Amino acid sequence: MTLALGCIADDYTGASDLANTLTRRGLRTVQTIGVPSDDLKLPEVDAVVVSLKSRSIEAGEAVARSRDAEKWLRSRGAGHVLFKICSTFDSTDAGNIGPVMDALRADCAEQIVLVTPAFPETGRTVYQGNLFVGLVPLNESPLKDHPLNPMHDSNLVRVLARQSRTRVGLVNLATLARGADAVRARLAELAGQGIGAAVIDAVFDADLETIGAVAAGHRLSVGASGLGLGLARELVKSGKVKAASRTALGTAVGGPAACLAGSCSQATLQQIVNAQAVMPVLHLDPDHIVAGKEEARRAVAWAAERIHSGPVLIASSAAPDAVAALQSRHGRETAGHAIEQAMADIAEGLVKCGVRRLVIAGGETSGAAVDRLEIPGFLVGEEIAAGVPVLRAVGHRGGDMLLALKSGNFGGPQFFSDALELMR
Ligand code: ADP
Repeated sequence: MTLALGCIADDYTGASDLANTLTRRGLRTVQTIGVPSDDLKLPEVDAVVVSLKSRSIEAGEAVARSRDAEKWLRSRGAGHVLFKICSTFDSTDAGNIGPVMDALRADCAEQIVLVTPAFPETGRTVYQGNLFVGLVPLNESPLKDHPLNPMHDSNLVRVLARQSRTRVGLVNLATLARGADAVRARLAELAGQGIGAAVIDAVFDADLETIGAVAAGHRLSVGASGLGLGLARELVKSGKVKAASRTALGTAVGGPAACLAGSCSQATLQQIVNAQAVMPVLHLDPDHIVAGKEEARRAVAWAAERIHSGPVLIASSAAPDAVAALQSRHGRETAGHAIEQAMADIAEGLVKCGVRRLVIAGGETSGAAVDRLEIPGFLVGEEIAAGVPVLRAVGHRGGDMLLALKSGNFGGPQFFSDALELMR
């Protein structure tokens, strides 16, 4: 198997978003959790998105992990690697976008790297090198107060230059509007001046197409899901990838099904109420969870008695006042961590009891469960709701499994039954 596209994402949710975007554009895509082992067996896919948690760690560590990921992707034949960053360019003057870009550029001997976090469809546009978040420049958006990566400068040429060893240039909208060849000529001109990275404007969705066409001719690019979309379109258009149907997740998995909810979002609370009409629901006692392991054991035993007759739902979710009360009794971190670990215990217990189809509500909750189940990656399938695809576990020692992982407010009112409907 030769990958048409390799991607390195600097956080998990960004990776899922990218993997879903690529799949929507017809690329058969696997998202891996961390750098996969050398012997990971993959189904026939066009793209792999390696999910790292490297956005806000020390720059040297982010570089090391990203280089490992790149090495793995190139070893699977990836001709182009997209370093996937946040569409709000989350970083500081110490990195990590610049240092990772520099290292990957050196590794693949790329003369000049195209850089853009633009994704017009989601309100991220770049004009004259300045990033806009919706209607306002980045430095006037809520990102100015981000706890880890406060963004005080919307000029990405400057931002990137401060964290990179190479000089940074600009390909502006006027050049872009003249088409792919004009962009190539501008890149050659910048490269001729010894400039190693070029921020490129993008204001309209169609701009991503031109950028994708140019980027696909390079070994490396840096951008958000918008650039992924541009690359995917180009790969399909040029015939390098034969667009696949997103329902192609392989044979049915079958077996018992269960749902877990640790999200306390408004949408999830309503989805749980609606699920009560169609499946047995166990509401966990959050104080008992914080007190010890017994509550998780009780939940698994409860499920084990029922899963062979149909799906069940186990929820820790509570309304905001109950959440606040629990947090004031135990501390926010302690309560959140204890419940996440209990949900991971329950997920593990459920799989040991034979569950093969697992729906999880809650971003952190999903992360804790997937880590515990040691699932190396997922093949991305059909969307249950916008941004929430069916996932098929890849390389899982525990056997074949389907999962759906949804964070916060995602999904319609009948999310749990909608998910199970598509998870055959
Ligand atoms: P979302 O995607 O909605 O943000 P997460 O799973 O990311 O959901 O976060 C929900 C957090 O709330 C987790 O840390 C979870 O452990 C915690 N939690 C779940 N149930 C409760 C509860 N009843 N009281 C307090 N915290 C809870």
